[in-house]
Amino acid sequence: MNYKIPLLLLLMCMGSGQVRAQQEETNIVLITLDGFRWQELFTGADSLLVANSDYVQDTTDLKRLFWKKSSGERRKALLPFIWNEVPAMGQIYGNRSLGNKVDLTNSMWFSYPGYNEILTGRADDEKITSNDIVPNPNRTILEIANEDQRYQGKVAAFGSWDVFPYIINEERSRVPVNAGFDLAHGDSLTDREQFLNELQPKVPSPWGSVRLDAFTHHFALEEMKKNHPKLTYIAYGETDDFAHDGDYGAYLKSAQTTDMFIKELWDYTQSDSVYKDNTLFLITSDHGRGSVPLDTWRSHGSDVLGAGSVWLIAFGKGITAKGEIRLKEQLYSNQIVPTLLEILGLPIDASIIKGEVFDFTER
Ligand SMILES: [Zn+2]
Repeated sequence: MNYKIPLLLLLMCMGSGQVRAQQEETNIVLITLDGFRWQELFTGADSLLVANSDYVQDTTDLKRLFWKKSSGERRKALLPFIWNEVPAMGQIYGNRSLGNKVDLTNSMWFSYPGYNEILTGRADDEKITSNDIVPNPNRTILEIANEDQRYQGKVAAFGSWDVFPYIINEERSRVPVNAGFDLAHGDSLTDREQFLNELQPKVPSPWGSVRLDAFTHHFALEEMKKNHPKLTYIAYGETDDFAHDGDYGAYLKSAQTTDMFIKELWDYTQSDSVYKDNTLFLITSDHGRGSVPLDTWRSHGSDVLGAGSVWLIAFGKGITAKGEIRLKEQLYSNQIVPTLLEILGLPIDASIIKGEVFDFTER
């Protein structure tokens, strides 16, 4: 009898040790697409916009690329990686026509408040009320991880929008943020980083505060190859700006390119000995956009109906393959941080973070 208790204790210790070791092993790639609507994610090109000459220069060409009879075909034409590969390995939330909903808890429905919520796990409608370049008083998960010795120096952020160094509070958090028109810095730049540094100033962006996503993407991919951050945040920005411009063709083509970028990141992680079978991808958006009246597809904010509705995609380490989630349920963007903190084995400050951890297991 006597040996049974120590053996049981030993097994319990081994068990929790294994869980802990698994948690520590998970690398995370968190990705956002600025203002990309759930409508296009789940149904592809919008019938009211794709052939509308108010928003599309060449409607014949755009229809050739993205118009198919069924919404199932249209979404595969728009986002081939997400709809051909992710359902067999991950989970896709936010199809409101099935009753599966993901929403922001902040009431602003524009970018800084959205990213603050996604990255800190809490809406802050008192302090985060504009997109101004104000250092975030709140701590992001990137900062929390960077303060832990297991992740220190293994956290990196990349964004197309030049406000990210403030949202992440680069100065206080010491999380390196390559955003806006930043170049790669350091002594050991790869050939590609040197080339990107050369190219970026020579390829003008249509916008003053947002660079083209190809630069953000390749700076991020180079860093992953070179230093293998355990927590990488990549914020693509084009979709929002093309939508504000009222250019539906560019909005769709940008979304399709981002889908290809995500596939490239995923395929890279699965070909790399550090990241293979060990990396979780989580993808979402900082806000939605309108749909009624039609012109509100271009905009968002608290006065735009539906702009608080978003979506969430998860695949990789620890995520069971459930495909498109058809369960009637309501999820919120403030659940992302507690979920990732738990996966990383970092403490969740319950006085700040109220969102429930997502259940990615079989239900
Ligand atoms: Zn916007």
